[in-house]
Amino acid sequence: TLSDRLTSVLQNLRGKGKLSDADIDATAREIRIALLEADVALPVVRQFIAQIKERAKGAEVSEALNPAQQVIKIVNEELVGILGGETRRLNLAKNPPTVIMLAGLQGAGKTTLAGKLALWLKKQGHAPLLVACDLQRPNAVQQLQVVGERAGVGTFAPEPGNGVGDPVDVARRAIEEAGRAQHDVVVVDTAGRLGVDEELMRQAADIRDAVSPDETLFVVDAMIGQDAVSTAEAFRDGVGFTGVVLTKLDGDARGGAALSVREVTGQPILFASNGEKLEDFDTFHPDRMASRILGMGDMLTLIEQAEEAFDQDQAEKAAAKLGSGEMTLEDFLEQMLAVRKMGPIGNLLGMLPGAGQMKDQLSQVDDSHLDRLQAIIRGMTPAERDNPKIINASRRQRIAKGSGVAVREVNDLVNRFYDAKKMMQQMAGRFGFGGGGAAGG
Ligand code: GDP
Ligand code: MG
Repeated sequence: TLSDRLTSVLQNLRGKGKLSDADIDATAREIRIALLEADVALPVVRQFIAQIKERAKGAEVSEALNPAQQVIKIVNEELVGILGGETRRLNLAKNPPTVIMLAGLQGAGKTTLAGKLALWLKKQGHAPLLVACDLQRPNAVQQLQVVGERAGVGTFAPEPGNGVGDPVDVARRAIEEAGRAQHDVVVVDTAGRLGVDEELMRQAADIRDAVSPDETLFVVDAMIGQDAVSTAEAFRDGVGFTGVVLTKLDGDARGGAALSVREVTGQPILFASNGEKLEDFDTFHPDRMASRILGMGDMLTLIEQAEEAFDQDQAEKAAAKLGSGEMTLEDFLEQMLAVRKMGPIGNLLGMLPGAGQMKDQLSQVDDSHLDRLQAIIRGMTPAERDNPKIINASRRQRIAKGSGVAVREVNDLVNRFYDAKKMMQQMAGRFGFGGGGAAGG
């Protein structure tokens, strides 16, 4: 797997300060292979790799993760970002009905999706109407009526026995019917061909012009892999679309089509279909798709756990030291800096009775303030930092001058340090995380 290969490629990296160019290149090769294996289109792979290289260059080697994990984390974050970050919601019209038009190749899963969408919308309190505009394929209308019945919603279709109707006319009349019968969402199913075809595109564009959809969803079978790019481009140019639905994710496709379509068209993926039943349907989750494309869901969970454990560990060590009564100004500064980026200690403090005050103090510390605190502490001699008791009036003046602050600020800092120290010792005594015997609570 990718994680095994990356782990072996990056074995020697432990302890180095930054990811080196050679390490990054070796990593990039592995990721490239993984993406191609997942059926991501080549130009998309190239672009993505370039992005990853750029980002990996500046990355410090983290303490919590081994280098392979760290690279995977970066790759995963980029992938999630490209796939859409947070899920986008369906665009609903201000003045109903909302019109959703489905477009895509034959067999992509449009008609099935119409039923799935109808059920999903109904569960959310909408009153959808399905519209049969595929008048090409025998039984297409009936197929839509069947999924409509299963979803428990109505289907608008041309009257039988009138020969082949005009899909544009059907679409237009369906919108009027929706208004009369108070359907607030209309889902327009359209015809597809096995390959991209001009007449089909023109028909879809005509339907689009007749109903002015609020969303046009390009429905694409995740199994088509590399072909996703050319198909998406054809539909983008021929009909245009505002969102993508991936189908047949219950198959063994690794999902490269998702990345390709997203990169090439810039349109968000809204939904994912993963089965033939109407319930096999969900909003699209970029994070799940990213781990599917990388083929390493377990590794990502491990990474999360490693980072959490590391933070926890840091917090506990710091708390133990503070509670032991051996806290120096150096520790105090470190703690201040840590609290900013580290939730656990802040949360820990918040949970302890009587600690609210300190928590407030800490949360008020902003960056510029921290810089000043740091300057003051750096202006002290090691002996002063270790044992602040020796900081008398003349030392305070010297420190203030040296670090460019008022004497009052030095006083504030020293007082705050004593307050914090006392409080930590009390908490240590009460909760027993003090490690040493010096706790006095
Ligand atoms: P359309 O031609 O785009 O309308 O596609 P259909 O909705 O008729 O679907 C074509 C075939 O794919 C049907 O047999 C569906 O049952 C099947 N299908 C649709 N969506 C999915 C899916 O998410 N997973 C699986 N396994 N099959 C699907
Ligand atoms: Mg169909």
